[in-house]
Order: sequence, then structure tokens, then C-alpha cells
Amino acid sequence: MSSAYCEVALPVPLRSLFTYEIPERLTGSVCAGSRVLVPFRNRAMTGVVVEVSARRPDPARVKNVREIVEALDAIPALPPKLVELGRWVSGYYVAPLGEVFRAMLPPQIDLRHEREFLVTEAGRARRAELDAAGNRSESEVAELALLSLMEIEGRPVRADRLRKLPGGEAAAERLQRRRQLEAREVAVRRQARVQKIVAWNAAYSGQLQADDAGAALPEKEARVFHVLAEERGPLPLPQLSKLARVSRPLVERMIRQEKLKCWEEPLAVEEDLFDADYTPPSNILNEDQERELGVIRGWLDSGVFTAGLLYGVTGSGKTEVYLGAVEAVLAQNKGALILVPEIALTLWCGRLFRARFGAGVAVLHSALPEVERAREWWRVRRGEARVVVGTRSAIFAPVENLGLIVVDEEQEASYKQEETPRYHGRDVAVVRAKFEGAVALLGSATPSLESFQNARSGKYQLLQLDSRVENRPLAPVEIVDLREDFKSTHHAGPISSKLGEAIAARLAEGTQSLILINRRGYSWFVICRSCGAGVQCENCSISLTYHKQRQRLECHYCGFSRRVPESCPKCNSEHVYFFGAGAEQLEEKLREKFPGARVARLDRDSVRTKRAYQQVLGDFATGKIDILVGTQMVAKGHDFQRVTLVGVVSADTQLSLPDFRAAERTFQLLTQVAGRAGRGDLPGEVLVETYYPEHYAIQLAARQDYLTFFEKEVQFRRLLHYPPFTALASILVRDTKIENAIRWSRQLSAFLAPQESRGVKVLGPAAAPLARLKREYRFQFLLKAPKRAQLTRAVTELLAFSEEKEIPQKAVLVDVDPLSLF
Ligand code: ADP
Ligand code: ZN
Ligand code: ZN
Repeated sequence: MSSAYCEVALPVPLRSLFTYEIPERLTGSVCAGSRVLVPFRNRAMTGVVVEVSARRPDPARVKNVREIVEALDAIPALPPKLVELGRWVSGYYVAPLGEVFRAMLPPQIDLRHEREFLVTEAGRARRAELDAAGNRSESEVAELALLSLMEIEGRPVRADRLRKLPGGEAAAERLQRRRQLEAREVAVRRQARVQKIVAWNAAYSGQLQADDAGAALPEKEARVFHVLAEERGPLPLPQLSKLARVSRPLVERMIRQEKLKCWEEPLAVEEDLFDADYTPPSNILNEDQERELGVIRGWLDSGVFTAGLLYGVTGSGKTEVYLGAVEAVLAQNKGALILVPEIALTLWCGRLFRARFGAGVAVLHSALPEVERAREWWRVRRGEARVVVGTRSAIFAPVENLGLIVVDEEQEASYKQEETPRYHGRDVAVVRAKFEGAVALLGSATPSLESFQNARSGKYQLLQLDSRVENRPLAPVEIVDLREDFKSTHHAGPISSKLGEAIAARLAEGTQSLILINRRGYSWFVICRSCGAGVQCENCSISLTYHKQRQRLECHYCGFSRRVPESCPKCNSEHVYFFGAGAEQLEEKLREKFPGARVARLDRDSVRTKRAYQQVLGDFATGKIDILVGTQMVAKGHDFQRVTLVGVVSADTQLSLPDFRAAERTFQLLTQVAGRAGRGDLPGEVLVETYYPEHYAIQLAARQDYLTFFEKEVQFRRLLHYPPFTALASILVRDTKIENAIRWSRQLSAFLAPQESRGVKVLGPAAAPLARLKREYRFQFLLKAPKRAQLTRAVTELLAFSEEKEIPQKAVLVDVDPLSLF
């Protein structure tokens, strides 16, 4: 009898695959990409089959081959191309394949793992023995009870039932060790969550005397009729009750009276997206848009892999180009992926694409409830949705026959995943497009240095939109020198006199102001004037931030919080001072200065839910707010028509950070936020407050001169051997005990030393910029190599060495192409 084997990747932090045998009954239902349930150590685990082969594994290498318990999918969850992509991600980012697959797959909501027991021959003998024995110990009684129960049942018994017997759990374990009981894992399917859908019963209208059912009904019921029969059609019960402004019991009663019909459906996708009232703008493409879209169509027609960078100033109408490209792809009967940098934009973008392309658009992001995410995922896998709009992880959506991947705002740091596997969504997008012979289209007003360099070198094709739609001018940017302001006003508040005047003028003429401040809280620095000590977090080497409303000091890294001290924790002096204005303080100062104005704040403290977030943005868009203060959140993507002033308070907070991307980030942020001004028919103005008015990132952002900035920055990167001219990896060694962190760093350092002769430059170990985080001490190495292969090899070997030396897996954190060097 011929048997088959397969290699399975499991979501465990080990770098190897595991071999299992495919039992006869499962032949044909297991192939590469299938999810399978397998025994691993003493539990069940879901893994992904990477390869099937008929050859028995070498017994010297694999001792005890166990069998797959169950195949979990009717069709393999991952199509072959995604298995291939997963292997690439695993190799490039040096991450365990099992963990990569876990990041690619939908949440497993339909399965629960359970363990069940069977009595073996030896177990039956044991029962007979115990039965016959006269004098039984307590544990023997428990064993006998357990074995008897199982024999009476005559079939496998679930572990939870055995646990309910007195001493059952321990007895089961003993019996299992003596092989009198055999455990096996089973997967149990869960029931899908359902919701009640309500519809108007047409037959009931027929029984009414009047022609118009609405007129013949009591007022509340008439509203229900109106919503269901005239306005919206069948709806989930809670939504109906909200829209018709009636109570649920009233709807229930109407169901009993058969005025309404009702049935159950699996829980639906978020309602926000299906806003029936929404009509998308119907823009006629301008010449520039048509020209660049034409080029993209050419790439699509050619059917070969092409990577393009669409560099278009803010407000140049890039979204319309994406829509046109997706339309062309659908006409070819292929699918498309659209990545956006944050969840709020998936809603906006999903709605736009759905209005244009209908139900074939799926939306995927991590804030969706698991059931919905899994449902959307499978809709894509089955081919019911061919267009996917989503955040980072949507790059792994199982769209088959993929023609196009769009990465909007490709420079955004949110495309980088900051946990294993630490992949970059944009870079994976380009690789995936290559594997699938598709087009990758990256879009930005401020492309990352990496991408623009790729366009320069010819690796990417460059597309350009040089002007805003309808030739609206870019808003002029003025730099406000805070040192000068202080000299003349002797006041160091967050609002300079210039900014104050500009806001007052907007209030007078009835237009809106948007103010960006890059810090949360009230004050971001608490210091003692007597001894100079800053009040630091207990767990991290970082200053605590004062939150006035909550009256707490908080750590923005680990969540630690404490009462506001009345005296210095170090020297007991009462001279504790708060410095550095954050968003909370700015909002307060604006309210004081402009008592009549309607001021709102948008940051993670003021809006904790997505609904609240949308509420604030909605109020601002409809003119219910005069001044909106916010962190980065306000800088991105939004299209407000009546904003004529954008103010940036302390633009330079990022510039002082020890990170080679500090200037690039500052430039990007300023350009993005400046792009929020003057998007409608009204012209705009931008004011940037800073203590470093002469810094090139600020100067060039003010002139909105990306090209000059790029030239300057790229030269600096080349000179100092930073990306994109060097492949970079960061290795962090961390532990709560500083001795451990030091010892392991030394071991790794000794291992890395010979790498220098193989072309890899090793910096460190040094204390990481955040030397202590969440109670762990952190040491850092930076590895630089002119060639990617050298870097990959060095990191791979380092991890193997670390495993060999039994340095705990979680103590060594590898980040290939790191975006954050903290
Ligand atoms: P970008 O992403 O390049 O900053 P958007 O795609 O958000 O710009 O477009 C900015 C605004 O211009 C949107 O309100 C959009 O509806 C509008 N727009 C796009 N193309 C056109 C066009 N051809 N004519 C008129 N308005 C357009
Ligand atoms: Zn002190
Ligand atoms: Zn902390």
C-alpha cells in the first residue's frame, strides 16, 4: 500500500517544517495550501500543508511520523501562488513559515479544537484488574470510575466530561501515560452567528382597505412600512428599529401579526459601507489623469509584471486613476487589491469602490469582527468578490487571477507590521505582483526615498500628476519662527501671534481651521526644577505624559499610569513643572482664546471608538466645527472642502529623534497636512511653527519641493550607507534581567564578528534608543550589507546560532528593513 506524506508549517516559533503522514481516508483532500489539524507535542494544532510527497521521510531525520487528524477545507485555504508568496516572506524577513501563514489566513472562527479519549486494550485489562481488586486507593477509584464510564459509553469521550469526575483529570493523565487511554484531537465546527432580517409582508398590504398602506396604518407602523417597503428593503432588526425610530418589541409584535416577514441570515458585513444614500462623485478625468491611466492600461494589456510609482501632488485626483485601473482589470476578468494605510480610509474607500463596482468588492481590515473578517475572506477565496479594499494584511487576500495591486500613500509607516512576521505590505505587494504577472501601482504625493529611488533607477516606472484637479493652486506655506515670536511677545504658548490672528480671521469669515500637533496629552514632559529629574515611567526609559482631564501621568509606550505627584519623587521638592504642549493643552488654549468658536479634538484620547472618530470627522466636514485640533490622524487623506487654514504647531518634534528617517518623516507629514488646505473652491493658507526654521526638511516642505528634498536626502543616505543603498536589519536582545540581556548580546556579538569579513557591517551591541521598555532591558545591533543575500544569510545564521545556544526565542527580535529603530 502506498502512503503519502506532507510537510506542514505550524504557527510555532521554530524554524522548521514538520512531517506528517496522510491517512488513506484523507488522500485527495490534502494538498499544498490546505489547512490541516495535526497532533503537535500533546495538543492539536492547525497547520498549513506546504508540500505533499510520496517518499517516506528519512527515518534518521524524522523518527516518529504521526498522522494528520483532519483536513479542514473543502478547497485549500491558500492557493498555490500564496503558498509561494508565504515562503518568500518567510525567507526574506527571516520569520517562521507557520507564523507567516497564520498572518495570511483568516481568523479561525468556525473551528474549535477538542480532545477526546479512547480506551485501549491495556485499559480494558486495567479495568478488569481494578474491578477485581478488593482494597482500592482513592486514585484507583477515580481510574475505575473513569474507565467504567468510558466502557459504558462505548465510544470516545470528550476530555471535559472526564474532568467533571472527581479526580478525573489526574486519572486520565496517569492512564494515558501507561497507554491505557489514548488521546486524540478533534475539530468541532461552531455554529455560524446569525441575525434576524425583517421585511414588509406584501400580502398584508393587500388586506388593507386603502390603496396606500402607509395611510391605513398607525403612525409608528407606517414608519416601519415606509422604511421597509419604500425606502430600504429587508433590514436587520436593530437597524430597522433605529431607522424607523420604533422599539424592538413593536417590531416583534408586527412580526407576530404577520405584518412583517422575518428570517435568519449569517451576520452581515458592517453597515457603514452599504450606505444607500451615498452617491459617489462622478468626475470626468482630466487630461493628466487620462494620460497616466492610458499608460497603466497599456501595462495591464501587456499582461507582464510592471511596478509603477504614481507621484501626484495632494489633490491631484489619484483615486480616480485607481478607479479607472480597477475598471480595466475587471474588464479583463481579473481581480484587484487596493491597500490603504488606515482603517478609517478603508471605510471611505470601500464605500467609493462599492458604489462603483457593486457587491464584488470586499473590505478587509483588522478591526472587523472576526466573523465578518472570515466571511469576507472566504467570499474572496470563492471568487464572489474580485476587488478587495483593505489595510496591510489584505495584501494576502486570496484573490485569484490577480491583475492589479494598488498601494495608496505607499510611504506610510503603517504598512510595516511591527510584530512577527515583520513584513512591509508595500514591498510584499511588489513581490506578489511579480509572482502573479500583475501590475503593482504605488501612489503618493511624497514617495518614500526607497520607492522614488527605484523609479529613478528604472526598477519602477514613474507616472506623474503635477497639478491639482481643476488647476486649484497648492496652498502657500509660511514658516513661523517661534524664537522671533517669543522675542516680541515674551509668551511661549503653543499658539504664536501669527497663528492666533490667522484663526481669528477664519472665524470672522466663517471658514474652517485645521491645527496639527504631534503630541497627545496635556504636557509631554514633567520635570523637577530643584533636582532636574524628569518623572519617568516605572517600566520604560521614557518621560511620562501629563493628562489633565484624567489627572494622571501616563506612559504612551506601556500604558503605565500614576497619580500626579505633588512633590518630586526623587528629592521631595514641590517645584514640579510641566512642559511641552500636547493636543489636550492646545485645545484648552484655543477655547480660552476664542470663546465663541466651536472647537473639537481628534486624537486617540478624545475618540476611542471608530464611531466617535467618524462623528468628529463628519461634524467637521458638514461645518459644525470651526477649529479641529488633532494628531497625525487629521493629516491623512481626508478631503475637507471648507478648510482655508492649516496650522502646524511644533513641526519639529520629530526632527530631534535619533532616527535616520527623521527628516523624511517631517517632510512627509508637513506636505500631507499642508495638502489638506484649499481643496475646495476656496484658496488656503498654511502656517508652520518651528524652532528650526532653517532646517531643510521644513524649508523644502514649505516650498512643497519634493524633488529637491529627495536629491538632498538621497545623497545623505548614500554617504552614510543607509537604505535604499544598504540592506539593513535590526536585532534587538531583550530581557527583564539586565544580566541576561548583556550575556546574550555578548554571545551574539562574538558570533557576528566574523561576518564583517563576509561583507556585513555590524554596529553594536549598544543600548537601544529606548533602553528599557515594558520592564525589559534592550540592546541593539544594526546589520548593514551592500547585498541583500549577504544580510539574509547573516540573520538566518544568527537565529540558528541563537537557537543552538538556547537563547529564548522571544529574547531575540529580528527586524529586516526596520522602519523604527527604537
Ligand atoms: P489625491 O489622492 O491625489 O490627493 P483625490 O483622489 O482625493 O486626490 O482627489 C481630490 C478631489 O478631487 C476629490 O474630491 C475628487 O473627487 C476630485 N477629483 C478627482 N478627479 C477629478 C476631476 N477629473 N475633476 C474634478 N474633480 C476631481
Ligand atoms: Zn527633584
Ligand atoms: Zn512605560
